[in-house]
Amino acid sequence: DHIANQIAAGEVVERPASVVKELVENAIDAGADYIEVSAEEGGLSLIRVKDNGAGIHPEDVETAFLRHATSKISTGKDLFAIRTLGFRGEALPSIAAVAKVECRTSATDDGLGRRILIEGGKIVDSGDEAVPRGTEITVRELFYNTPARLKYMKSVQTELGHISDYLYRLALAHPDISFTLRHGSNVLLQSLGNGDLRQAIAAVYGTSTAKAMIPVSGESLDYRLDGFISKPEFTRANRNGITVTVNGRVIRSPQATQALLAAYHTLLPIGRFPVAVLRLKMDPSLVDVNVHPSKLEVRFSKEAELMEIVRSAAFTALTGMVH
Ligand code: ADP
Ligand code: MG
Repeated sequence: DHIANQIAAGEVVERPASVVKELVENAIDAGADYIEVSAEEGGLSLIRVKDNGAGIHPEDVETAFLRHATSKISTGKDLFAIRTLGFRGEALPSIAAVAKVECRTSATDDGLGRRILIEGGKIVDSGDEAVPRGTEITVRELFYNTPARLKYMKSVQTELGHISDYLYRLALAHPDISFTLRHGSNVLLQSLGNGDLRQAIAAVYGTSTAKAMIPVSGESLDYRLDGFISKPEFTRANRNGITVTVNGRVIRSPQATQALLAAYHTLLPIGRFPVAVLRLKMDPSLVDVNVHPSKLEVRFSKEAELMEIVRSAAFTALTGMVH
């Protein structure tokens, strides 16, 4: 069973960024609008995610860390329910199987909460503790008991890059949530969470880029697009500055990137790419999220129609801009 836990854990916990992703998604699920992530040594020695969400009730804390203990029934309203179905209730047990995890949580405003310590899947300590409402989960020594996995980890900079790339995009997808990312004593991200997308862009790319962004919008009967794209003089050497969301979730969309670049094509020098945040809204029935369960790729049912909205909205924004 111990081995089974570690094998299953490998599917969920590939690297430090996967731990951050699972913990931060839980914080968002818990309704948090303030999420603080701290990491040390690229997340390999420490990852801490603190939120001001609903918290976990004292009697539910232990079961949250036990495999298959929390299998929620999908309501169908969550577009990405299918993607997470396989991992439902498996994230915390999986992380706890391959690290030393401390959870401090409170579901009330009376300052009463619970602390639990799990090492390699075994509960080694738990008790009542004074905790403000919300949850703080600290993951220490990731993969300490799975040296084979640890060997596959890249440099601190690479692992940190995966974490920050994920959180930057998440901050852009959720301008209403305040995100902080610290690595050691460095603050890498601090978004206000005041709902303003341009402010979120400023937090991620800096104020001068944010000021140089042009609003973009377009719609058809089936799809709606809004967001910002950069003026052609504010470009980057790769496509990583392009973020696409579908109904609030970050996705990977080579198609939308291509459509965006088509609008820029006479304006951009070779090898330069815009900064952009494209937010797509549609009926969940118009998008198939089951294509690549882990890679966040999707299939749109009327792809050509959608890509034409992206291209023409970007083209209109670029040709209408004031120099
Ligand atoms: P899942 O998210 O698929 O339900 P997880 O293993 O990620 O499974 O989490 C197990 C359960 O623990 C969640 O369903 C939730 O009830 C609780 N939980 C985890 N993290 C938090 C959090 N930050 N705030 C409140 N509850 C949480
Ligand atoms: Mg989860």
